[in-house]
Amino acid sequence: MDLGFLEWPFFTPEHVDFARRLSAFCRSDLSDIDSEHDESETGLDRTCREIARRLGGAGFFSPCVVEAPGGAFDVRRLCLGREILAAHLGLADFVFAMQGLGTGPISLFGSEAQRKRYLPPVTRGEAIAAFALSEPNAGSDVASMTTRAERDGAHYVINGAKTWISNGGIAAHYVVFARTGEAPGAKGLSAFVVDADTPGLSVAERVRVIAPHPIATMKFEDCRVPASAMLGNPGEGFQVAMGTLDVFRTTVGAAALGFARRALREALGRVLEREVFGKKLSTFQLTQAKIADMGVGVDAAALLVYRAAWTRDTAKRRITREASMAKLYATETAQQVIDMAVQLFGGTGVVSGKAVETLYREIRALRIYEGTSEIQRLVIANEILKGYSKELRDRVRWLPA
Ligand SMILES: Cc1cc2nc3c(=O)[nH]c(=O)nc-3n(C[C@H](O)[C@H](O)[C@H](O)COP(=O)(O)OP(=O)(O)OC[C@H]3O[C@@H](n4cnc5c(N)ncnc54)[C@H](O)[C@@H]3O)c2cc1C
Repeated sequence: MDLGFLEWPFFTPEHVDFARRLSAFCRSDLSDIDSEHDESETGLDRTCREIARRLGGAGFFSPCVVEAPGGAFDVRRLCLGREILAAHLGLADFVFAMQGLGTGPISLFGSEAQRKRYLPPVTRGEAIAAFALSEPNAGSDVASMTTRAERDGAHYVINGAKTWISNGGIAAHYVVFARTGEAPGAKGLSAFVVDADTPGLSVAERVRVIAPHPIATMKFEDCRVPASAMLGNPGEGFQVAMGTLDVFRTTVGAAALGFARRALREALGRVLEREVFGKKLSTFQLTQAKIADMGVGVDAAALLVYRAAWTRDTAKRRITREASMAKLYATETAQQVIDMAVQLFGGTGVVSGKAVETLYREIRALRIYEGTSEIQRLVIANEILKGYSKELRDRVRWLPA
């Protein structure tokens, strides 16, 4: 992968070193797991475990957790990890992303005991993590969730269902959000970490999506967890979820960027080699227009992704607007870049198992999960309007009496 962007001022020498090592590792240690792996349920589960074992064993999950209490994520390293892995193999990006998202609430809001118990095995790739927020009737509108956790002495009893759960069925633990009823809506939710072997927790069904990953609907039937399994305080579940997504949303943009870079590279290889009407495809101006649009899209997406990550790392503040812009732009642009790559390949582009065909399927869900493109637009507009109203208020305050 072309790592020329590492010259940008967003990165430290440690970031550059991490990116180079991971890129080399993909070539040396992940190349036998190619995009035509066994896509049956057991095949997917086995491949995910194997990828986790290899990446964890080589220390590449260290950006996915914050082991020191009070520490912060290095969002640039998370983004570099996702971008490089996505450019190599979608499933490797999926595994890396979920080790982070599935422990993010523990890293950010967990007690000392929770951190010690759950984070090290995930970092080593020995345990797999999951994040269970969405429900059949509560996706974009998270606050309408109906899964309940009722207090019963020293325990909470969870009942309900969670759907679209990445790593459902193979995770060692699930971070679960449920209604505890301190207040209506978003203020009455709490977060829990639930071990996979807790009685009452089971896989209701596996969900097969266009780019197959291990995803399931999970059922909670009188699932009893100790009160100490709560992350943060009662009623803080929404803050736990949003605080975690504030870090990880930018990384979805980074994964999209990795897919787009790979599509551009595949397309370049093709147009430089394919002959039509007696000339290389790359010599036609219509081809060059596509290449130019793809290149600009990739660079603009990268700038938004690494602007968001750098801001979060250096200013150490919420990056709601920057993260939503990065996710929206990078995922939408990657979809277009990949579509252009498929077009440049002609019929070969839609043959099952071809790199651009796989990318075409991989990119689609990124415009939906962790907040759809429509939701990102609502968030961005809200942030811009909020900023402008504040500016107006400040201007009025400074008017002479
Ligand atoms: C592959 C994949 C993996 C996932 N992994 C996980 C996971 O690990 N954990 C987890 O908790 N969830 C996961 N999800 C769930 C994901 O976060 C939700 O699918 C997403 O939030 C959208 O919710 P929904 O599917 O219920 O769609 P809905 O909320 O029903 O939205 C349907 C459509 O309506 C639009 N819409 C919604 N509200 C508005 C509005 N106010 N204005 C205009 N348009 C609107 C949406 O943008 C969308 O186009 C995953 C999803 C996928 C596809």
